[in-house]
Amino acid sequence: MVYLDHNASVPMSASVIEAMTEAARQGGNPSSVHDYGRRVRARIEAARKDVATMVGAAASQVIFTSGATEANAMGLRTCGRDRVFVSATEHVSVLDAHPGAATIPVDADGVVQPSAVRAALTADGVDADAAIVSVMLANNETGVIQPISEIAAVARELGALMHCDAVQAPGRLPVDMAALGIDLMTVSAHKVGGPAGVGALILRDASLLRPDTKGGGQEKGLRGGTENITGIAGFGAAAKFAVASEGTDKTAGRRDRIEARVTQEIPDAVVFGSGALRLPNTSCIAIPGIGAETQVMALDLAGYAVSAGSACSSGKVKTSHVLLAMGVDDEVARCAIRISLGPDTSDADVDGFIAAWTDLIHRLRRSAA
Ligand code: PMP
Repeated sequence: MVYLDHNASVPMSASVIEAMTEAARQGGNPSSVHDYGRRVRARIEAARKDVATMVGAAASQVIFTSGATEANAMGLRTCGRDRVFVSATEHVSVLDAHPGAATIPVDADGVVQPSAVRAALTADGVDADAAIVSVMLANNETGVIQPISEIAAVARELGALMHCDAVQAPGRLPVDMAALGIDLMTVSAHKVGGPAGVGALILRDASLLRPDTKGGGQEKGLRGGTENITGIAGFGAAAKFAVASEGTDKTAGRRDRIEARVTQEIPDAVVFGSGALRLPNTSCIAIPGIGAETQVMALDLAGYAVSAGSACSSGKVKTSHVLLAMGVDDEVARCAIRISLGPDTSDADVDGFIAAWTDLIHRLRRSAA
């Protein structure tokens, strides 16, 4: 089986599993004052530093959570700003984080134009000083990269806070939170080769949040509860690995080869976001007339794991809100699949995939004709 679904989750490396195993063997509660407690505390603080380094932040800015979904909700609900503006192509955990959030449109390539953010924040009746803007760094379905520093500059100029769901970026793009001008940033371990169920909200300043639960006062009193020790240890190891592998990404050439060959063989294939800057590993392509589910199931049988837009937890496939927001026709959006490569994806994997996919499309079209 060839795994081409790295945007869903990146497989854990041996160093991550080792770090988690060591932490599990060691045991202890980081809040205890005895030696066991101090050792596990040291492990957590080392991981905090590695996660901070991955996004150009200081360790003191990192608040560990149960994943990006919790970090997004925590950031948007407890920042004390009740006017929430989210881009139309955000992950559902941002779209649904705050009831009554207003949507900022994207252009046909899926890009949030800074002028659209300015228009939203200066609309009649909007007090930008009471607002927070949330725009992701890179889209999980299309890989489209947003002009975050320009958007953050607009938010800052008008008095709004800026949150960024950066889940898909580390390890694929250098990320520097301060240079981007972001107040709150979300990351997730399993998107960088760590375990699922752990993430972080990274804060320019801890005083930005007013949490409604305190618990045992962990994570600066912002996110109570005994820390997910093994998960955090794995996150730290994955972050270190992501930083070390920066600049070695060879996925862009492979991704471009898939797009070139498929559009050559299937002239009506549509590549989404191709006019925008994109993550080097991600391609979202529709084959009009062939439903995404059919393609994903047939490719699975042929030995290739890809995904259909965004799968929800039930395993059902919904028409992608991301593509619909880009103005893609509903019928075409239903026929889009996402291919997301990883550092271990080889040329042979890519060639095998291209052959299997184009063969499948020709067969399905012949039998339909
Ligand atoms: N944001 C984005 C952009 C994502 O791709 C995902 C995962 N699909 C999430 C948030 C949610 O992450 P987690 O699974 O850690 O809650």
